[in-house]
Amino acid sequence: MQTYQGSCHCGAIQFEFTAPTISSSLRCNCSFCKRRGAVMSDFMLAPEELKITIQNDALATYAFGSEVAKHHFCKHCGIYPFHQTLRKPGHYRVNLGCIDSLDALSLPAPVFNGAAL
Ligand SMILES: [Zn+2]
Repeated sequence: MQTYQGSCHCGAIQFEFTAPTISSSLRCNCSFCKRRGAVMSDFMLAPEELKITIQNDALATYAFGSEVAKHHFCKHCGIYPFHQTLRKPGHYRVNLGCIDSLDALSLPAPVFNGAAL
């Protein structure tokens, strides 16, 4: 297990979790994700597994459609650090690009067919 630390671009939102070494990722082709273009964790974290620190009232949330998925972003720098998933409400996927110790764009990144949901 390894501890990973991530943040938005300005640092107002920080997060930390422990997981097996990350060697793969996930993209999604839904109407929202294809615009965002982020490389996400292919695993989900329970709320108690993701430690989130927020400064300057930075956390904003976008939801659409069923509004089950909560897409969080930083009000100040606009970056998406993590979201609560549609498939497992309340559980999180994180933006692997927010983790400085990880070369996120070099990981295999299959596309989940979220457009079909
Ligand atoms: Zn920020």
